[in-house]
Amino acid sequence: MKQRETRQLKATLAVLAAARDHLTAEQVYRRVRRHVPGVSLGTVYRNLDKLRAQGRVRVLQLAGGPARYDPTLHEHDHFVCEACGTVTDLDLPRARGAVRRLARAGFVVRTQTIALYGLCRACAAPPHGPRAAGAASHPGEA
Ligand SMILES: [Zn+2]
Repeated sequence: MKQRETRQLKATLAVLAAARDHLTAEQVYRRVRRHVPGVSLGTVYRNLDKLRAQGRVRVLQLAGGPARYDPTLHEHDHFVCEACGTVTDLDLPRARGAVRRLARAGFVVRTQTIALYGLCRACAAPPHGPRAAGAASHPGEA
């Protein structure tokens, strides 16, 4: 029984480490099931919570969405595509500096999630290559 638990936890960690796309618990569950058939969603939730408590995964709570699990442990920020839902890692040191200044000024920052929302490169690209018309809309500018 113990061995099975360890195997499930290891599989959960391996799935997270291999994924760069900030999986939800459901997505982790579907991928763990490929390696450990018969694993339950409840077990995956418990293992995710265990890994979070051990500091081996970060929980990313973005506006209006389910919790996502992030194997990148160092401080970083995120870009969320509103069209396809992809979450990409970003590095915004200046924004984090502002949070640190706030803390130095006596504010207690409990949760820090700096996320930008918009369209990823793939969703922002026009379907048939770049349009020339947009670039020439301000002819006077260099
Ligand atoms: Zn991330």
